[in-house]
Amino acid sequence: MSAAEKTNLLNLDRQAMQDFFAAHGEKPFRATQVIQWIHQYGVDDFDAMTNLSKELRARLKDIAEIRVPQIAQDQVAADGTRKWLLRLDDGNAIETVFIPEEDRGTLCVSSQVGCTLNCSFCSTGHQGFNRSLTVAEIVSQLLVANRALGRDPKGERIITNVVLMGMGEPLLNFDNVVPAMRLMLDDYGYGLSRRRVTLSTAGVVPMMDRLREECPVSLAVSLHAPNDALRDQLVPLNKKYPIQELLEACRRYCADSPRSRVTFEYVMLDGVNDSVEHAHELVRILRDVPSKVNLIPFNPFPQTHYRRSPKPVIDRFRDVLIAAGLTTITRKTRGDDIDAACGQLAGQVQDRTRRRQRLTAGMDQT
Ligand code: SAH
Repeated sequence: MSAAEKTNLLNLDRQAMQDFFAAHGEKPFRATQVIQWIHQYGVDDFDAMTNLSKELRARLKDIAEIRVPQIAQDQVAADGTRKWLLRLDDGNAIETVFIPEEDRGTLCVSSQVGCTLNCSFCSTGHQGFNRSLTVAEIVSQLLVANRALGRDPKGERIITNVVLMGMGEPLLNFDNVVPAMRLMLDDYGYGLSRRRVTLSTAGVVPMMDRLREECPVSLAVSLHAPNDALRDQLVPLNKKYPIQELLEACRRYCADSPRSRVTFEYVMLDGVNDSVEHAHELVRILRDVPSKVNLIPFNPFPQTHYRRSPKPVIDRFRDVLIAAGLTTITRKTRGDDIDAACGQLAGQVQDRTRRRQRLTAGMDQT
């Protein structure tokens, strides 16, 4: 069998892996064993899977593979943030970022090569779009990072949290993102709790409802503006799913589990969305949504005309929210010396939208 026809086992969550083994006349518990070898132990050599019979190992070599993207670049920032550039089979490359903190280690995972949404303040958006990532390419980011970082002296994994906040809009790659997250949650995979896996969306409303039904992980929503006129400019997707619809979807998302709250991300853009009036407006619209607010100081990138709000302006904005009873934190800027901060991930996108060309030529109207 040629490599092209082999099944990449990294694409299979537990159910798909069971179906795969059933199709080859094997018992379901093989799925558990193989998932454990691949994802818990980081093994990609069938010969090392010693609890499988010799025959099954030989068979798997014939029909399957464990194909992990190559590391094209591995950079560490002054603050310990680490960024990997992963080369995909088709020549594109994506970025994954590890953010160490006192009490946890967070991996920021990409879901697409580039992005279709074209948010005006985001570097990924400016790269254009090539395609969605496969399940294998999404979960491989965690596999590669875990291999590189290993475990602490107590044997615990260094990566304790995953956020789908890298390149791309995860809810526009729902069918691959969900199985990848199921592997993250699987006890024999990465064993992360739902609280420790966060999906961030620009607000693809119908898919938020599907997520709630099929894989209710923690939800973050990129709000960035307290009214439709401004949000239309910053997040063009708002024209399709305006704020009130988005907030209703957020309320539905939290309705099933009383303690859950949506994290609203709000990028602080100097003179654009950072006034005290904006803060009061935000308080009003979030009044009956169980929420937390994350203020993100804007991270600049080439070709942007936006500037970061000065610290006193961010603090003033935060204080209005806190005084109104909203849990609010200002996100620390991490890894900006290696372009690893929020909105700076660019990867290497073979753009198929020609957006970059239009932008460079100054003809882009969006
Ligand atoms: N498409 C998803 C996932 C990307 S998450 C989403 O929009 O939520 C990346 C987060 O960083 C989003 O909240 C995004 O709006 C924010 N972001 C994008 N560009 C940024 C920049 N230049 N500075 C700070 N935050 C930015």
